[in-house]
Amino acid sequence: MLPQVHIRLSGFLSGSIRRFCLITFAALSLYSCGNNPQKVNPSVGAEIPEATFLVVLGTVQDAGLPQLGCRKACCKKYEGVKDPDKNVVALGLVDPAEQKSFLIEATPDIKRQLEIMKKYISYADFFLPDGILLTHAHIGHYTGLMQLGREAYNSGKVPVYAMPKMTAFLGGNGPWDQLVSLGNISLKPLQHQSEAKLTDQLTVTPLLVPHRDEYSETVGFIISGPNKKALFIPDIDKWQQWEMDIVQLVQQVDYAFLDATFYDENEINNRDMSEIPHPFVVESMDRFGDLPEKEKAKVYFIHFNHTNPLLDATSPAYQKVLDEGYQIAETHQTFPM
Ligand SMILES: [Zn+2]
Ligand SMILES: [Zn+2]
Ligand SMILES: [Zn+2]
Repeated sequence: MLPQVHIRLSGFLSGSIRRFCLITFAALSLYSCGNNPQKVNPSVGAEIPEATFLVVLGTVQDAGLPQLGCRKACCKKYEGVKDPDKNVVALGLVDPAEQKSFLIEATPDIKRQLEIMKKYISYADFFLPDGILLTHAHIGHYTGLMQLGREAYNSGKVPVYAMPKMTAFLGGNGPWDQLVSLGNISLKPLQHQSEAKLTDQLTVTPLLVPHRDEYSETVGFIISGPNKKALFIPDIDKWQQWEMDIVQLVQQVDYAFLDATFYDENEINNRDMSEIPHPFVVESMDRFGDLPEKEKAKVYFIHFNHTNPLLDATSPAYQKVLDEGYQIAETHQTFPM
């Protein structure tokens, strides 16, 4: 099943004319190629889903967009014109029946992302989720927690679900330990391959993945709702370094949000790629190449470096990924769970 794509104009009226032109241009150019209308035909003002669902809140790699010091075209176009939808990777998870919501990853863009999430929550005057789940201790994935502290929202015991090294890191190092000692957050340890219950209808199961683990281990999550399962792996070194078979896993879930930091090896020329390994999008497409169409269509690429052409819906690479039968994660996509 394909997700609904909601692009809500309310709240984003500033700059809306520019964005409208961009969307219209993208719609026309993609439509004329006869491709995947769900990317380009957003149902403006569509209903908030009534049943349990997941919503994409960000798609960019840790450093965000634009990236500090980047003078190239990829970031130049965002100088002084921040795109409210180009945030660091995060997902929202909502169970309207229990009136509970969860944020997966606490990014540097958390304030804007909770504003987006609020638009999808009809049952309460929403400010904070009922829990935050973290994959690892790299800046894009946890530093948004700082907005919960005494200098900021000063929250009360927000449950933060993370793996043992990650919870030890937060509890044992400033400034994060102050969130614990002041009771702004309450750490909830997760275990590899052990299902944790979020609500009666929602569970999450962490899977350890190989990644640069300087301060914590790194996990992906299998998120299970009453009807659907989603796999979320925003960061992993290379698929072949993982003991689990990603091709099999994709077939066991309904949606797979997968590390697409770099499109291919030619993308950045001033960094040693071996120091920052990720599966290139072209390698992932190769790996999934023999899967039937309906399996490929479960793959949503996410976690784009500022240089990645998949951040630009008008790029040839964006079109190629769609043509090959895969999907590209975009903020505001919702997925029934
Ligand atoms: Zn990352
Ligand atoms: Zn850039
Ligand atoms: Zn990372």
